[in-house]
Amino acid sequence: MNTLFFRCKVLLMCLVFNQTLLANNQNLRLIVRMDDCYVSADSKTVRIIRLFEKHKTPINVGIIPFKNPADTLNPIYRSRYAEIFVHGYKHEKEGNDEFTGLSYLKQRDKTQRGKHLLESKGIYPCCFAPPWNGYDDNTLKALEKSDFLIISANEFGPKNNSKIKYVPSTCYSVKKAIEVLEKESLFNGIIVLLIHPYEFNSDADFELLEKLLIFINKNNIQTRYFSNLNSLDENITAKRLEYHHYPLFYLLRKYDILGFNHTVYYEMGSLITVNIIEWFLLLIISLFGHLKYINKLKLYVSITTGIILLLVVIIFYSYKSDSYRWVLLYKTSVIALFIWLNHRLINRKKLKAAQAT
Ligand SMILES: [Zn+2]
Repeated sequence: MNTLFFRCKVLLMCLVFNQTLLANNQNLRLIVRMDDCYVSADSKTVRIIRLFEKHKTPINVGIIPFKNPADTLNPIYRSRYAEIFVHGYKHEKEGNDEFTGLSYLKQRDKTQRGKHLLESKGIYPCCFAPPWNGYDDNTLKALEKSDFLIISANEFGPKNNSKIKYVPSTCYSVKKAIEVLEKESLFNGIIVLLIHPYEFNSDADFELLEKLLIFINKNNIQTRYFSNLNSLDENITAKRLEYHHYPLFYLLRKYDILGFNHTVYYEMGSLITVNIIEWFLLLIISLFGHLKYINKLKLYVSITTGIILLLVVIIFYSYKSDSYRWVLLYKTSVIALFIWLNHRLINRKKLKAAQAT
């Protein structure tokens, strides 16, 4: 047991050491998602787009299809550096937000009409971002039917449609994005920066945005369109989003431990590593509890414990929830079941050996 603890300590020390030694801002990439742009652009939107053009940097622009009358001279459509995604329908609330709780048919009608309007202008958006980041299972079904490939909301919406891919926003201020990039990271990931034209109220706000663009160009940080992510070498399936809510990863990001932080959408490699460490830690804790208590159980108590554990695993498995507490309980019950099984097998072996002598 002591050796196990020692190895864990060494592993953690290596990670901390690597964080200072191998951290690099090129491990991070950037997606800029600008919501709330109307079909006819306003002066703030245009000024932001001009900045991205000046620094030859991609920006994703969210159009609200039925907010204003269409304007074909809109500079958003003409920019070489702006990729358009659909941001809702009219951006008007029907209940909590524009989509959540509405029937599938109603949602399908809204998503299809928005897409068709842009297609009539020769624009073929692949990504949809719901207003107020609000959506439900029916929205995912409607998006699938309307041939959208990606949804970009926040991290906490449903993700049980395997036909749709997920790129949630993770960072909500230009200042924070600069801070994270300057701090560098040991792990690969994407900062999904969400901005709105109405947040830019003074020259200083535009200057800060330009500072970000200069920084990313100087440091060769890659910026992406949503459509770039929909390729084979980038895993943006629901699994990636799900891993972000696994208990250990959730805590590491929440408290900025080992260089992880909540403004980055990490790649599968680091997620799987943390997932393995999580299983390993749970195993150690469970083994410790086992040696201390379970070993001393009488046969009938042990059998009852086994049955309860099996039932708990089945219940946790069938009621899939993404909350990190649920995942933690599920993993712990799986480990406890294996330890119990191992314990029973050892006891049987002992019993047989005793009978043989
Ligand atoms: Zn919006």
